[in-house]
Amino acid sequence: MTTQVNTVEGRRDAASLGRTLIHEHVLVGFPGWFMDARQPPFKRAEAIQRAVDAFQELHAHGVTTVIDPCPMDLGRDVEFIAEVGQKSGVTLICTTGVYAESMGIPYTLRALPIEAVTEIFVKEIEDGIGSTGIRAGLIKIATGEGHVTDYEKKMIAASARAAKITGVPLISHTENCSCGHEQIDIATGEGLAASSLIVGHSDGRDDHDYQRSLAERGSYVGFDRFGLEQIVPDQVRMKNLKMLADAGHKARIMVSHDTVNCWLGGLPGGAAPETLNQIAPNWRMTNLFERIFPELKRMGMTQADLDTIVAENPRRYFEEAAANAKAAAPKAAE
Ligand SMILES: [Zn+2]
Repeated sequence: MTTQVNTVEGRRDAASLGRTLIHEHVLVGFPGWFMDARQPPFKRAEAIQRAVDAFQELHAHGVTTVIDPCPMDLGRDVEFIAEVGQKSGVTLICTTGVYAESMGIPYTLRALPIEAVTEIFVKEIEDGIGSTGIRAGLIKIATGEGHVTDYEKKMIAASARAAKITGVPLISHTENCSCGHEQIDIATGEGLAASSLIVGHSDGRDDHDYQRSLAERGSYVGFDRFGLEQIVPDQVRMKNLKMLADAGHKARIMVSHDTVNCWLGGLPGGAAPETLNQIAPNWRMTNLFERIFPELKRMGMTQADLDTIVAENPRRYFEEAAANAKAAAPKAAE
């Protein structure tokens, strides 16, 4: 049985995804972005062209698929994503689910019971998002730093239930390498296997023990912020990635940059987007291929290791999620 993945172009066989970056944003707008009246108006056509240029550059490195894990509450615009995918030749996969309570816009979903939230996520995966006909291919979950709020617990549980019903995987946001285990606990508490989850941003601290402990539970470990060196230098990310591979967990490593190609409004806190180039000059989608993979090879990893990480792992992640859902489904009455 092949596993079908929802992309913005329609369903694709997981085996056909190829080289895949698991966490890059085409477009992001933090809740209320439009309230900053000082910002210039958003120019959609120019933004699309900028994103197309960046994705074409990535495509030239052999990347054929990118997951955009934008949750519902961060300015998600799946038609924008679809247009960038169609014009750049990169297959994009979009997401349902929500962001962390402190940075998201939780009121509507906070007020609804968990059954209704589950139904909403399932609807976006099975029927499509709004009237676009574009189906979400996975579910975003998120937690803030240090502890999981009641709202976040409910959203993660609803996401796990929707994953069990639909067979799509979960992809997460964490803060400062905290609460990854709590995310796994909530998902597995709903009967979902840990391998249906990428614990995102697990490269945000020099902490091999934490990264290894996530892999030992069977979850995928996101080394997904390469280039954001003001958080952690890429040298530290590479050291920890290699340590995790050497510890026998190569098959659980996922890589990406968490770039944001277009912003609605300004950056959180009012910084100008241009300042990012000064703060994080390597924060671009080609960083892995231009700087990181060559360096990992110098450190002793092989091209086959890197192919496993960038192509085989994403394919297996979708396949395992589909198999996990099947295994968790109540047996039909005979
Ligand atoms: Zn992100």
